[in-house]
Amino acid sequence: MSDLVSFAKRFDFRCWKCNKAYSIFKEVKLDPEKENEQKIKVACPFCGESAVADFFPHRSKKKFILRNSDAKEESFSYEYNLPKILPTTELPK
Ligand SMILES: [Zn+2]
Repeated sequence: MSDLVSFAKRFDFRCWKCNKAYSIFKEVKLDPEKENEQKIKVACPFCGESAVADFFPHRSKKKFILRNSDAKEESFSYEYNLPKILPTTELPK
């Protein structure tokens, strides 16, 4: 089990349809363990087209070693290195 990663910030997206960039404030909660649950839905303010931005390709896994007196435990954490402008794709029908 891992912790959810949450964002509450302004993201920049690139519309897959009209190719314009726009920024939207989003609150996003992602479970980094679930590849299929890292997509967020947005709508382009220029052409009104719905789009999906996938955070999964920008995720990276980091390994930690926790040392106790004599036990060694491995732990993971995730971080997202998002591009300045997130690409979007068409909403699956
Ligand atoms: Zn658009």
